[in-house]
Amino acid sequence: MSCYRVYALCYARRTGRRGQNFCGYDEHWDEPHPTAYYVWLAVSDEHTVVVDTGIGPSRADGFSDYVNPVRLVEDIGVRVGEVDRVVLTHLHYDHTGTAGSFPSARYVLQQSEVDYWTGPWSSRISREQWLLDKEDLDAVLGSGRVDLVDGDAEVLPGLSVHLVGGHTAGMQVVRVATARGPVVLASDASHFYENIEDDRPFPILHSMPGMYAAFDRINALAGDPSLVVAGHDPEVLRRFPAETERIARIA
Ligand SMILES: [Zn+2]
Repeated sequence: MSCYRVYALCYARRTGRRGQNFCGYDEHWDEPHPTAYYVWLAVSDEHTVVVDTGIGPSRADGFSDYVNPVRLVEDIGVRVGEVDRVVLTHLHYDHTGTAGSFPSARYVLQQSEVDYWTGPWSSRISREQWLLDKEDLDAVLGSGRVDLVDGDAEVLPGLSVHLVGGHTAGMQVVRVATARGPVVLASDASHFYENIEDDRPFPILHSMPGMYAAFDRINALAGDPSLVVAGHDPEVLRRFPAETERIARIA
């Protein structure tokens, strides 16, 4: 079984309000609530996999501590040409921004996610359109290097994707075999640890029942809850050993 080293790379930050991050009434709704933005990297002796590609420079206004996510990948010693898979957990702009920067990679995303954003009704779903970057999507689909999957799939030995839905129609999480056991990169299926640990979904969502089902699926896939990696929680940089102030070694 292939074993991966897994990293979380924090490329930007933003401070919102608690009420923006949890469904339901919260008496502390108006308190500041920091959000961190990550891409993830899984490296084995044979493969280099980037999970999500962050925000591109053209949409980085309004975020603090921004660096181009590609630069962070290179900081770990990975050349973009070595990346052989890019998994896109979903198609929100803060997960696709530098997708065109990996000239040899095959892109892995869910068919249902592409269908949702490109289907006959997509342009009428105006409350969500701002979350898609059409140029990013066109770069991926036009690359000729796309593997559309439907449900659960092994991408490489020891690295699999799992359709969970909830946050978006085709939201997928990534399970990675490591020396510590299976790590689950939850991405936006759980923005913060508080979402999954206190059973309180994030309010930008496609399906509320899907959000809860995603929590259960993530916990089942991880086995050990300490190996779940939340998608936007600054806490990731405290729960896992820091290599630099932006990079945590998950396993
Ligand atoms: Zn999202």
